Amino acid sequence: MKNALYDKEVTCPLCKNIFRTKKVRTSSTRIEKRDTDFCTYYTSENPMFYGVFVCPMCGYAAMESTFHEINGAGKKAIEENITRRWTQRSFGGERTIQEAIEAYKLALLCGQLINQKKGVIGNICLRIAWLYRYANDPKETDFLKHAVRCFEQAFVSEPLPIGNLDEVTLMYLIGEIHRLIGNYEEAIEWFSKAVGNPAIKTKKKIDTLAREQWRLAKESFKNKKNQEQAG
Ligand SMILES: [Zn+2]
Repeated sequence: MKNALYDKEVTCPLCKNIFRTKKVRTSSTRIEKRDTDFCTYYTSENPMFYGVFVCPMCGYAAMESTFHEINGAGKKAIEENITRRWTQRSFGGERTIQEAIEAYKLALLCGQLINQKKGVIGNICLRIAWLYRYANDPKETDFLKHAVRCFEQAFVSEPLPIGNLDEVTLMYLIGEIHRLIGNYEEAIEWFSKAVGNPAIKTKKKIDTLAREQWRLAKESFKNKKNQEQAG
């Protein structure tokens, strides 16, 4: 599957260095399955591994969609906190899960330093959680927790959509992440908001998912309460 990858040339908005980074050809991606929080499994190369660009010269990293969104203050923050301590390192080859995690963590650090929108930070955290899930690493939960807090903040303070998440899909996703980390009450609240939103009628798949996961959350909440009472 080596030829599923190709090199993309990118100019760093910070140091103007031109570097190459891998991408997966859309025509060669094959989806195997999707989890209820949209974590996707591929039988082909996983495009998510290459979703963050890292400049090998200065260490600036961000998701492809926001790579060029950096202002003067942001550049200064990266120079002072990343570039000064950065030793040249390329993420431009084929990436293992661990290398993908490192790339996303760099993007998370840079995103925090430049005060990137909460929705963007949430999307980075969610992807780190998924990468840990692929690796069966319990650190997944920490990043799901970060992701859901960011999405909740984004929901009340940032314009929608958040990345490719429209209002109803985001409501559903916040509910589902809460369910996955065992916050059943919050999950129930968000699922009921999603299902009660008229826009869900235009999104059959989300409607079905939200109702099913809502039912599961209610069931888990009941079990948890029963266990607490028994204990
Ligand atoms: Zn650079």
